[in-house]
Amino acid sequence: MSEQELFDLAVIGAGPGGYSCAFRAADLGLKVALIERYPALGGVCLNVGCIPSKTLLHAASVIRESREIAAYGVNFSNLTVDLQKLREKKNAVISKLNQGLAVMARQRKVTVITGIAEFNDANSLKIKTESGEQILNFKKCVIAAGSSAVKLPFLPDDPRIIDSTGALALNDIPKKMLVIGAGIIGLEMATVYQALGAEVDIVEMQNGVMLGADRDVARIWQRKNAENFKIMTSTKTTAATAEEDGIYVQLQAEGEEDEKIIRYDRVLVAVGRSPNGKKLNLDAANVLYDERGFIPVDKQMRTNQPHIFAIGDIVGQPMLAHKATHEAQIAAECAAGRKAFFDARVIPSVAFTAPEAAWVGLTEDEAHKQHINYKKATFPWSASGRAIANACEEGFAKLIFDAETGRVLGGAIIGGSAGDFIGEIALAIEMGATAEDIALTIHPHPTLGESIGLAAEVFLGSCVDLPPQKR
Ligand code: FAD
Repeated sequence: MSEQELFDLAVIGAGPGGYSCAFRAADLGLKVALIERYPALGGVCLNVGCIPSKTLLHAASVIRESREIAAYGVNFSNLTVDLQKLREKKNAVISKLNQGLAVMARQRKVTVITGIAEFNDANSLKIKTESGEQILNFKKCVIAAGSSAVKLPFLPDDPRIIDSTGALALNDIPKKMLVIGAGIIGLEMATVYQALGAEVDIVEMQNGVMLGADRDVARIWQRKNAENFKIMTSTKTTAATAEEDGIYVQLQAEGEEDEKIIRYDRVLVAVGRSPNGKKLNLDAANVLYDERGFIPVDKQMRTNQPHIFAIGDIVGQPMLAHKATHEAQIAAECAAGRKAFFDARVIPSVAFTAPEAAWVGLTEDEAHKQHINYKKATFPWSASGRAIANACEEGFAKLIFDAETGRVLGGAIIGGSAGDFIGEIALAIEMGATAEDIALTIHPHPTLGESIGLAAEVFLGSCVDLPPQKR
């Protein structure tokens, strides 16, 4: 890159938001530079997030199922885990996808620059690379610099206190582990380490796990995991000391006078992520950001500077890869002069735990808070042939309807591969579908997904897979 070279679009950060945006913009004919501080593309999601966690969760799920299948007369004796091999497999999955992204960037003639970018002014970036500092001039820019794990300032600096990246490194399996935070990331990591043999406690300051999901969903998860984890909700982690034999963590449960001190071999901090907005010298480009580092954007993903866009974790919640890639397409299209704007009604959430939980759109909790007149219909998996065959009959599919229009407003699934079929409910909401639309769609039998159709039948009073409903 020569100093005078001018790019139509500079994209800062090659996570799912950044690389999707760069690729789409290149497909639309723009000359694109993609700047990433690490040599591998893919960001948090591919390198230290979605993909490695799902690789380990797959192993965890096979381990769990290999034990549960004993009830079917199938016994795997001598289950062993070769941690080195598991790490290698996880790294191989990441590297395969890294390579795929690098090839696709080349195929699109996207100029990839490895370095740390910050704004120089409203039309150029200063990039620190291994070979020195470069200035990159752009007509338009997309900020896709993502987020970082939140640290608890009162915890000591000790290698036994880790974040999700440390947990995914899978250096060893501790005997006794504490997970601070019962959000999706904390619960997924707890699921992995418990399956691999650690005794795992979970502490959560709020009064429940998996906040954001309806409580009936969380209750089933908690009931299924009662023996797997000690879960301490409404409990604050107040301090910790690092000793030779472990980390001594001080926990204060709401309503209890005395604090508890418990020793752990490893402590995973999973209390959320904060945006990287304060690390980009945004002031040089007069781009506004809030006190936490989030960058406000309009529906076209434009910041207060119309030629500078921002997408993904850095613009706000929910911090999810599929939100980032959706926003990426909008920013790329707008940057290329097309008319596009963020018009999605809902963004699904999935906890890839055991059991898996997924929800989208309006939850009952939200409906109550917002005084929305809703009706719900639930199909319990205790009546699903497939769920019984698969030994997951404690799950359910639930649909939430607007009481007046009958349109689907939300839904949740707990059990099986809930994340794989929550998309049907998201589509129903986007299409303004009613219970009839779903119930009259023929769902394949026997599948867990058919329970969405059956929940719609429950709403209509036409379900014959359950005892007769009251008229
Ligand atoms: P990021 O993926 O954070 O990418 C930002 C990129 O910008 C990074 O590569 C960073 O190195 C680079 N960067 C930052 N600053 C600079 C700079 N100054 N110069 C150059 N480069 C810079 N989401 C899901 O949807 N499903 C999941 O199952 C899921 N699982 C997760 C599991 C874990 C353990 C974690 C931590 C996250 C998970 N997420 C999941 C969230 C998901 O990873 C993020 O929402 C997603 O990665 C956000 O994409 P992004 O493009 O906004 O940012």
